[in-house]
Amino acid sequence: MPHLIQPASTARAKCRGCGERIAAGELRFGESVPNPFAEGETTHWFHLDCAAFKRPEPFLETVEARTEPLDDVERLVSEARRGVAHPRLPRINGAERSPSGRAQCRSCRGNIDKGVWRISLVFYEDGRFEPAGFIHVPCAQAYFETADVLPRLKHFSRSLSDEDLRGLQAELQTSTG
Ligand SMILES: [Zn+2]
Ligand SMILES: [Zn+2]
Repeated sequence: MPHLIQPASTARAKCRGCGERIAAGELRFGESVPNPFAEGETTHWFHLDCAAFKRPEPFLETVEARTEPLDDVERLVSEARRGVAHPRLPRINGAERSPSGRAQCRSCRGNIDKGVWRISLVFYEDGRFEPAGFIHVPCAQAYFETADVLPRLKHFSRSLSDEDLRGLQAELQTSTG
């Protein structure tokens, strides 16, 4: 069964990438994966943006094989290619202010103080995204080999205000690896 891009027939499916529902009629990406419980394969659904950010290889394969036009395809393809070039980028699961001072940064191994911004990470394994810790925002360059991550933070943390995004951008600009 190949991967596919098709309109959602109902609003029942949840996106594997962000956990939100996919609206009926919205184009969605279906990744064909081995069924863990039975013979054969099953389909994991994603918003197109979530697929480009978090499943770049199967998404690119599907877009490249597609013959019909796709809205915003250049931006989606360029983000997916960046995720292939920098294989840690698809781990990004958003940004938040650290609710405690207990987490350790996966990049510099220093503590992440309470109240400072941190980037949340997930690992993809066996068809699932598992929580995989955090990094300081200024550690982005060292960890991802690029500090151009704001579109991903914004996409996966939809409640961030413009002021929050300006603060994150300022911290990313200090990120030199
Ligand atoms: Zn999504
Ligand atoms: Zn750090």
